[in-house]
Amino acid sequence: QVVTRFAPSPTGFLHIGGARTALFNWLYARGRGGKFLLRIEDTDRARSTPEATAAILKGMEWLGLDYDGDPVSQFEQADRHAEVAQQLLAEGKAYKCFSTQDEIAAFRDAAKAEGKSTLFRSPWRDADAASHPDAPFVVRIKAPQEGTTVIRDQVQGDVTIRNDQLDDMILLRSDGTPVYMLAVVVDDHDMGVTHVIRGDDHLNNAARQMMIYDAMGWDVPVWAHIPLIHGPDGKKLSKRHGALGVEEYQTMGYPAAAMRNYLARLGWSHGDDEFFTDAQAKEWFGFDGIGKSPARFDFKKLENLSGQHIGAADNAALLRETEAFLAATNAAPLTDMQKEKFVAALPSMKSGTKTLGKLIEKAYFILGSRPFVPDEKAAKALDNVSRGILGELTPHLQNASWSREALEAVVASFAEERDLKLGKLAQPLRAALAGRTVSPSVFDMMIVIGREETLSRINDAQS
Ligand code: GLU
Repeated sequence: QVVTRFAPSPTGFLHIGGARTALFNWLYARGRGGKFLLRIEDTDRARSTPEATAAILKGMEWLGLDYDGDPVSQFEQADRHAEVAQQLLAEGKAYKCFSTQDEIAAFRDAAKAEGKSTLFRSPWRDADAASHPDAPFVVRIKAPQEGTTVIRDQVQGDVTIRNDQLDDMILLRSDGTPVYMLAVVVDDHDMGVTHVIRGDDHLNNAARQMMIYDAMGWDVPVWAHIPLIHGPDGKKLSKRHGALGVEEYQTMGYPAAAMRNYLARLGWSHGDDEFFTDAQAKEWFGFDGIGKSPARFDFKKLENLSGQHIGAADNAALLRETEAFLAATNAAPLTDMQKEKFVAALPSMKSGTKTLGKLIEKAYFILGSRPFVPDEKAAKALDNVSRGILGELTPHLQNASWSREALEAVVASFAEERDLKLGKLAQPLRAALAGRTVSPSVFDMMIVIGREETLSRINDAQS
């Protein structure tokens, strides 16, 4: 069974790169009937905060990246990490190193002077235990010194590292606490992780982590190190270019489904498919579609996908996303009555709408109530002449049969009679019906709100 995990360090919000890593792991597992686990890498006590953990959980919840079981706290496994180091010590695969900082610095200076590698070679590696002083020590792993280590990476291919470039990495510090590198390996092993998908900034760590797998005789997971996300200019992603917490994308009004689609496309592709559903992404996602060069973040593309997802979403999903959006932006929640009207109006509002914010704006004609005080732009459309024209249109609407075709015909023939462009007539009509210049088409609005309300609003606009 496939087991993947997302292992964020809780030192800040869930940023876009982390969200993408989480998504890839989620897709990989969910598409294979596997498990997706969450581990909070909170061993760095000075930098980890509960607020950051909460923000990460919240971001994942919004994105709909559900994980199996409870999140694992890495810090809480510290005893287990130390136990593994002790085992390696007992088996002679690790050793106690008593070298002081000064001695290590002196070693490096001397090596430098002689033009040799400054990788520290501890004199304690092969020292006999009887000679150990009663002094503080760290526990170091015995790194292989000859040959090579090959990381079989699913994205990068085989990455070969010369073992003489590896030092005897510390496993336990002098205060007995385990180092991060040990924690990751032990946790991944204990959690049964079979596939590690993470940023390629961790590729170097993989070589060192492999030493621990080998020393313990554990199976190495399948590794996939994915290229980082860059800005549209190919440089490191900056705030302006999208290096934001995922919650900021939520408040910008992108539906979570669109965000998942977009994030999946950041560094992964499936032929020419741009727009797809979760089910398709789960079915299609795999390592062969992951590119080797950094993905570029592109707001335009995100916005386009967002519009497509809004256009394609069913009413229930769209209502859910909109309610989450309103909550995230601290806007008042919809009343039951408003929800009902909103859903009824959705078919007239969905197409051509790029964000949930725009959807709400469009819905003003149904969510607001009379009198519809026009905003600045709408007020401009309702000048004296236009108001007069609306007054003359009124009797035609009073007698029209209330279907879209009939209304279109009535308005068109009125416009022709008065030698008006349809747009010139629609503008003030829209302003009267919605109090806004952003709304569904005037005909859609008239159908949704009905004859009586239409005539009342036109009447209001004239006074
Ligand atoms: N905690 C690491 C990070 O947030 C991830 C480590 C890993 O995935 O192995 O970058």
